[in-house]
Amino acid sequence: MREYKIAAIPGDGIGQEVIPAGVEVLEALQRKSGGFQLHIETFPWGSEFYQQTGSYIPLGGLGALRNFQAIYFGSVGHPTVPDHISLWGLRLAICQGFDQYANVRPTRVLPGITSPLRGVEPDSFDWVIIRENSEGEYSGHGGRAHTGHPEEIATETAIFTRAGVTRIMHYAFEVAQSRPRKLLTVITKSNAQRHGLVLWDEIAAEVARDYPDVTVDKMLVDAATTRMVLKPQSLDTMVATNLHADILTDLAAALAGSMGIAPTANINPPGKFPSMFEPIHGSAFDIMGKGIANPIGSFWTAVMMLEHLGEIDGAWRLMQAIEKVTASTVRTPDLGGTSTTAEVTAAVIDAL
Ligand code: ATP
Repeated sequence: MREYKIAAIPGDGIGQEVIPAGVEVLEALQRKSGGFQLHIETFPWGSEFYQQTGSYIPLGGLGALRNFQAIYFGSVGHPTVPDHISLWGLRLAICQGFDQYANVRPTRVLPGITSPLRGVEPDSFDWVIIRENSEGEYSGHGGRAHTGHPEEIATETAIFTRAGVTRIMHYAFEVAQSRPRKLLTVITKSNAQRHGLVLWDEIAAEVARDYPDVTVDKMLVDAATTRMVLKPQSLDTMVATNLHADILTDLAAALAGSMGIAPTANINPPGKFPSMFEPIHGSAFDIMGKGIANPIGSFWTAVMMLEHLGEIDGAWRLMQAIEKVTASTVRTPDLGGTSTTAEVTAAVIDAL
């Protein structure tokens, strides 16, 4: 029996609904598949925990997480805590602490889902966006001075290092190489950002020489948004900086039909630390507690986690079950249906 230790951190808002739903589905999958056993431990870290204890992660918390093979994360964000406190307190503390430098977001239109793009049928595009997840515009470098005075100043410095850009480019080329089209689009903005992004382009070209079978093209980030909307089929794998990919991946999620569907993985490629898997949506307090959060993003996230663990057959079975349900009429209100989180969860378990 292959055994894995998984840390579940539901976090805030609908994370507390969709992660337990995902755990239910994973437990059903392992019962039906046999062959592997997940030992899932749930951690109560989130904004309520922060309000009670003064920290998002208790002392020694990161050390405790190191003993797990993967982290199954919900979301963080609370109306009474400034976003930069909650984000850096929990999610980024894990991403940075565990050097999860590659953020991976697959996007496609699942069966039964309608893209807002006219004429786009399910499966008519299939993208993977690789986001640099450790530096760039979100390095946290900068500061503020003369606070509250007319001459107040704030700086936010983007950091691009040769080591950081080289490793994400290798990761992106490897993902592109593993996919049938072997096509990588390097997203840049080196016309305006003439230092960091010029280094970014130079390293992309250097690394490309190690992957002669991968076709590479380069696009300015603004032009990339247009291409995603007008010629979605022309793209396959993309690599972009932390900020650029943050924006492009939300666009991708919307083009795929709903924020409630897409998953993401924060990977530490050498495997020295656990990687973290999460639906891309946030805590969505507007629908919290109503039982109508779409759990599909959390289920697809579980698929990515199983693939990472090497449970390819289980991952495939779960994805088949998800697609069977999205193609049916059992869907939550964000997809135009009337079903609840619990009903969609039961339908996926049934399909398994
Ligand atoms: P945060 O500030 O934590 O990023 P948010 O509420 O600002 O969260 P998201 O949660 O990313 O933003 O989503 C925006 C909106 O999309 C939500 O307010 C909600 O209405 C809808 N939404 C997001 N995820 C889901 C989901 N899983 N099911 C249904 N609706 C969703």
